[in-house]
Amino acid sequence: MIQMKEKHQSRSLPQLDELYKEIILEHYRKPCGREPLDKVDFCAEGMNPLCGDEVKLSLQLKDNKISKVHIEGHGCSISVASGSILADMLKGKTIDEAKNISNCLKNIMHDKETDSKIDLGDLEALEGVKKFPVRIKCALLPWTTFEEALIGHEHVEIS
Ligand code: ZN
Repeated sequence: MIQMKEKHQSRSLPQLDELYKEIILEHYRKPCGREPLDKVDFCAEGMNPLCGDEVKLSLQLKDNKISKVHIEGHGCSISVASGSILADMLKGKTIDEAKNISNCLKNIMHDKETDSKIDLGDLEALEGVKKFPVRIKCALLPWTTFEEALIGHEHVEIS
């Protein structure tokens, strides 16, 4: 476990539970999905001008599964952490499984009922964000970019 010495680093985060804050900051500091891909099957760039978040997402498929995810970009801790969790979770999933996870997160953010069988892992840490409507876009940016990449849209701007 990383010691949380620099308390001031969490100032950009809304009032989330300490545990959730820690998971988000951990992903923010050491994001997953930074290794380059050998080949790119889908890619898209997403922007959230409201907060200044930017992500570039690329997927590599093998045997109908997402074999690798590359994600880079910059922005607030929530968007970076959400992208890192995406990269971590979607590896090894089929496109349909990945879409289900994405839908599940959207439902949570919009306070709709969701499929409780889906294991959300670290995504649960983002649930508290729904209390802060402006930050919901930050959390959803990588996932929206992922969905748009699948349908061939290379530039996504959410507003
Ligand atoms: Zn943001």
